[in-house]
Amino acid sequence: MARQNVTIHTTRPSDTKPTPEDPSWAMVIDLQKCVGCDSCTVACKAENRTPPGVSYNVVVEEETGTYPNVRRVNLPRPCMQCDVPPCVSVCPVNATYKNSDGVVVIDAERCIGCRYCITACPYGARSFDFGGTYSDEMQGYTDVQSPEYGVQRGKRGSYTPPVGTVRKCTFCTHRTARGEEPACCETCIGDARYFGDLNDPNSVVSQLAASPRAFRLREELGTEPRVWYLR
Ligand code: SF4
Ligand code: SF4
Repeated sequence: MARQNVTIHTTRPSDTKPTPEDPSWAMVIDLQKCVGCDSCTVACKAENRTPPGVSYNVVVEEETGTYPNVRRVNLPRPCMQCDVPPCVSVCPVNATYKNSDGVVVIDAERCIGCRYCITACPYGARSFDFGGTYSDEMQGYTDVQSPEYGVQRGKRGSYTPPVGTVRKCTFCTHRTARGEEPACCETCIGDARYFGDLNDPNSVVSQLAASPRAFRLREELGTEPRVWYLR
């Protein structure tokens, strides 16, 4: 993936409207290729140093059909980075917003922890950071910051953000700014996850999103997710 000239905003910028130079990030997940190994969940936790009880990416096992024509599907579920995000419209302090590259992010300094956005998200993609740590099991855990915020905020447990605020998948903005894929895509052993720029009609995600196999979760809600699945 080519390096992109994207600014990671750690506080809400005055204007987040896309410019012609901005990428338009999206993800496609092939359900025929996902083997349900949960590598993406582990990679995401390690990459984003999420605390106990917080997973930005889970893989949900579902059964479809009726016996004897039953099929088991593994459904990885990151944040959908909705283009019409209910989580953004309910935030009373404008702490969560859509970045110019299409990704929905949170300004941890502005978030007051009211959790309205957790209730509003129809995909269960947001979690509250209660300040838990793995420091009993992992030495030095509290010394390293959550990379998605990219700023030094002091040790976890001292009740400085992101402790006491809401956390979510950002398509690994800290990695995409370096020209790297999100950690879940890089680690997928089934090669089931694709990431790229919808502004490029030749990108793999543009082509796969137009596939007759493509669908999005809960389309009827009108949230316009940026994650497509291939059935
Ligand atoms: S999936 Fe949930 S958290 Fe993510 S943008 Fe949509 S409404 Fe917001
Ligand atoms: S890493 Fe790939 S194959 Fe494994 S659960 Fe995640 S999406 Fe599926």
